[in-house]
Amino acid sequence: MTTTHKRFCQAVVERCGENFQRCLHCLSCASGCPVVGAMTYRPNGVIRLVQYGFAQEVLESPDIWLCVGCNTCSIACPMAIDIPVLMDALREIAVENQAKINETGILNFHKEVLDSIERYGRTHKLEIMLRYKVRQRDLFSDMDLGLKMMAKRKLDLLPSRIADTKSVSNLFKEFSG
Ligand code: SF4
Ligand code: SF4
Repeated sequence: MTTTHKRFCQAVVERCGENFQRCLHCLSCASGCPVVGAMTYRPNGVIRLVQYGFAQEVLESPDIWLCVGCNTCSIACPMAIDIPVLMDALREIAVENQAKINETGILNFHKEVLDSIERYGRTHKLEIMLRYKVRQRDLFSDMDLGLKMMAKRKLDLLPSRIADTKSVSNLFKEFSG
């Protein structure tokens, strides 16, 4: 392993604070993962790439974006490795390093959810979906589902906001700067 590979692995360890070097590659994590069928490397494969310091492969991998953070893997892991924390760290590093992101739709959705929280202190789902659809230039594909949700009053037309939105927006400023 070259120094560059070692450095990347160390940077990920420092970012996530998780000792994934304990991984036995037993595949217990992959067997319960709800999105494993869509993944290229599977959760333990992502760990393997980081262990070997394959920065580009892991940072450009769709797997780090497909993870929904459900923790099924961590519960099954005999070494108690917190895989969602590792995935979060890899997503952060990918964005910071302007890595080529193949799952731009998922990244855009994350952005819209965070923007909504920054604006209102909570999520406004209808606005999130509309803004996301505009960003994706895909306005009509889920129209029937959206209308059904509105008919069942699952989507509020207007946002509600918390009393102290300033504190929330200060938090965003603190962590984005
Ligand atoms: S369950 Fe834990 S030890 Fe087994 S492969 Fe997955 S991360 Fe590694
Ligand atoms: S947290 Fe991510 S990797 Fe783990 S089981 Fe859930 S989706 Fe799969």
